[in-house]
Amino acid sequence: MRPGVMDRFDGLADRFLADIEPLKAAGTLVVGLYCTYAPVELVRAAGAVPVGLCGKKQEPIAAAERTLPASLCPLIKSSYGYAVTDTCPYFSASDLLVGETTCDGKKKMYEFLGRIKPLHLMQLPAMVGPAQDAYWLGEVRRFKEFLEERSGRTITDAALAEEIAVQNEVRRLLHKVLATSRAAAVPLSGLDAMLVTEARSFTADPNAYAAVLRELLAELEAMAASGASFAPAEARRILLTGCPVGRGSDKLVRLVEQCGGVVVASENCSGVKGFDGLVDETGDPLEAIARRYLRIPCSVMTPNAGRLALLDELVQAMRPQGVIDLTWQFCHTYNVESPIVADHLRHQHGLPTLHLETNYADADTEQLRTRVEAFLEML
Ligand code: SF4
Ligand code: SF4
Repeated sequence: MRPGVMDRFDGLADRFLADIEPLKAAGTLVVGLYCTYAPVELVRAAGAVPVGLCGKKQEPIAAAERTLPASLCPLIKSSYGYAVTDTCPYFSASDLLVGETTCDGKKKMYEFLGRIKPLHLMQLPAMVGPAQDAYWLGEVRRFKEFLEERSGRTITDAALAEEIAVQNEVRRLLHKVLATSRAAAVPLSGLDAMLVTEARSFTADPNAYAAVLRELLAELEAMAASGASFAPAEARRILLTGCPVGRGSDKLVRLVEQCGGVVVASENCSGVKGFDGLVDETGDPLEAIARRYLRIPCSVMTPNAGRLALLDELVQAMRPQGVIDLTWQFCHTYNVESPIVADHLRHQHGLPTLHLETNYADADTEQLRTRVEAFLEML
């Protein structure tokens, strides 16, 4: 049984372009974002509309490979392919792009993207510490100045505080939605949970998104109270970690749920990593934003203890029986980190991990199905 409110999330994403049309006509900037490190509060406080642009489909990859090496992760190639073929309406609608120096492939791809549209690159440090906090605050301040110059609007502390409160409310609601899958009955499938978080990047008005989240939460809580579940009681509970997934790059989530498992949580950027951690609402808003965003535990950080800590929390809260660690082909940081994650989960929690490396194409789907089926049977 699927929550009826789920249709509204599809509607939100579909409506985005219609919603921004009058805003664009009135001079509102649309800012395309590629990564979870981009502070949306700043974009909104500048009166601009942020939109997520990460490439999640196979189709534009061939066009990207005319310029980029084939040996890059599909997410990078798909992002660039959409841009160079101008086939993503969200990219077309964007006036400006924001990138961060995360993995090597992505930061070098931004040099090409910057030839297509104005791109602001935030120089992300590779670890968390007092010196990095001070440095990243400078980068956040530089981003603020860039937005002020482009929008012609001063970003005030009051505007920032307002946007922080709205985004924190969205983060709290997403955590509550996740918590409805803690019990044995799981009212929301992993695939639908992915659509819920993804819709956040395609909503012109975050308050409207929060309102639909509240409706979803009410329906999920009612379902949970009546024991309604997406999956039968014997379905194996899976925690997904690793590279981000989304509509178009969701084959592994589909496979797990087709094979009788249920993804009870996704630790990746398209899941909990994208909404975990509130921005402190006391003190200087810019410092609070810088502090929260630098603590996103992406594998580009070294060391990346934050990812293990987040996995610990999710294991305790969501009680998975197994973990699937997804690496997109040629994503070196997640690939190298995978044995660290598997060792940690085995030693700290006695949990088995299945590490899968794949791309956006369908060629290996049946091979993956066999491995997922075998893993679920083993649990
Ligand atoms: S996995 Fe890392 S680089 Fe990719 S979107 Fe998330 S934070 Fe950004
Ligand atoms: S999946 Fe890996 S290689 Fe691809 S953009 Fe993200 S961090 Fe970079």
